[in-house]
Amino acid sequence: MKRPAGNKSGEGPGLKIRTETRTRDASDSVIVEDLVRKFGKFTAVDGISFRVRDGEIFGFLGANGAGKTTTIRMLAGLLTPTSGRAVVEGFDIATQSDGLKEHIGYMSQKFSLYDDLTVYENLEFSGGVHGLEGPAFRAALESATAFTGLEALYGRFPREIPLGWKQRLALTAAMLHNPRLLFLDEPTGGVDPVSRREFWRLIHDLAEGGTTIFVTTHYMDEAEYCNRLSIMHDGKIVAMGSPAELKASGGWATMEDAFVELIGRRITTQ
Ligand code: ATP
Repeated sequence: MKRPAGNKSGEGPGLKIRTETRTRDASDSVIVEDLVRKFGKFTAVDGISFRVRDGEIFGFLGANGAGKTTTIRMLAGLLTPTSGRAVVEGFDIATQSDGLKEHIGYMSQKFSLYDDLTVYENLEFSGGVHGLEGPAFRAALESATAFTGLEALYGRFPREIPLGWKQRLALTAAMLHNPRLLFLDEPTGGVDPVSRREFWRLIHDLAEGGTTIFVTTHYMDEAEYCNRLSIMHDGKIVAMGSPAELKASGGWATMEDAFVELIGRRITTQ
């Protein structure tokens, strides 16, 4: 079931928000300028710049260790940048991370669900983190699960349910507070192809309802579902564009060819 549109707190896409604390360019959900994150002497994210438009599905690709999760954690206000600037949903990530967290959802690579709580209790806990309690929680839960379908599993524990449903649970938990932007870090890792396809249907429906999706994946069939892609290597963005543009840039037939060649070129020229 498709989630109804209108999750923008009454604001139409691209509307400029006029408050003292938020600065938001029309139609940009994420604005990143020269963002750097170092761990000691090691530079995990090396001066990246890009924008994500409102309501698009933005795929963040890269080999293991490219810097994707580090970037997402900074954009979600969970990790402080070493330098550079980013504005996410109108909030400066360095100075306004508390406000930012109310407007985004984050589904991390590792489950942040509790195995000793039931599915329902996990959702109750996630709702509570965003101040959703009592009738407000129940309304949010009804809206989210009408979309992701979890009711039959409320009394089960996460360890008892298949991975594909666990991913849905994690997605439901991340979207309970109706965020305008969802960060999904490898949401379908290890999931079977049928469940992956179903999960991507949910992602598409969310985007159609106006939610901006920022997703990482190692599956090139999933990359094809994105409106635009960024390919990261060694902390830098090496290519950006729609799947069709990236394939056309080298005359490659598939996204997998494009990805392997674009990353491979960087490795052989280093
Ligand atoms: P994957 O696809 O495997 O999830 P990724 O692109 O998300 O990889 P990151 O997890 O962002 O990559 O890691 C980028 C680099 O930064 C890696 O070399 C990683 O070991 C390093 N790194 C990440 N977090 C830390 C940390 N807290 N301390 C030191 N190094 C770190």
